[in-house]
Amino acid sequence: MTIRIGNGYDIHRLVRGRDLILGGIKIDHETGLLGHSDADVLTHAIMDAMLGALSLGDIGHYFPPTDPQWAGADSLVLLAQVHQLIQDKGWQIGNIDSVVVAERPKLKPHIEAMRSRLATVLDLPPDRVGIKATTNEKLDAVGREEAIVAHAVVLLEQ
Ligand code: MG
Repeated sequence: MTIRIGNGYDIHRLVRGRDLILGGIKIDHETGLLGHSDADVLTHAIMDAMLGALSLGDIGHYFPPTDPQWAGADSLVLLAQVHQLIQDKGWQIGNIDSVVVAERPKLKPHIEAMRSRLATVLDLPPDRVGIKATTNEKLDAVGREEAIVAHAVVLLEQ
């Protein structure tokens, strides 16, 4: 078996008047993530990790923020497309691990729903989709609740 590893990082600004969507789950909160698509920072980091494992560039290349086609896009639809791309190249996901860094809201109550949602889209058992959440200890933009960050690593197998 051949394996490849990729890592992904993303950050989106938190603003009023936007829905907060993480891992495909809408979370009730007074602010949401700003972006051209639904700004699902976790799903974006995972997609970049999948692409990175095969040196295929980043999601900005496939879904440019200048393209009106992706305005308000459901990031799970984009994730399914990236998944198809790696499958077309003969690869499958071994496992995903990720971290969401957010000061608020508390993400723990939503982690299982996010894992289950992403696992369903990727046709994986949920135990292959790791999602952890941490705060930024009130430091920097994330700590001031101005942004949410996500990091992801993905192992691909062939
Ligand atoms: Mg993004």
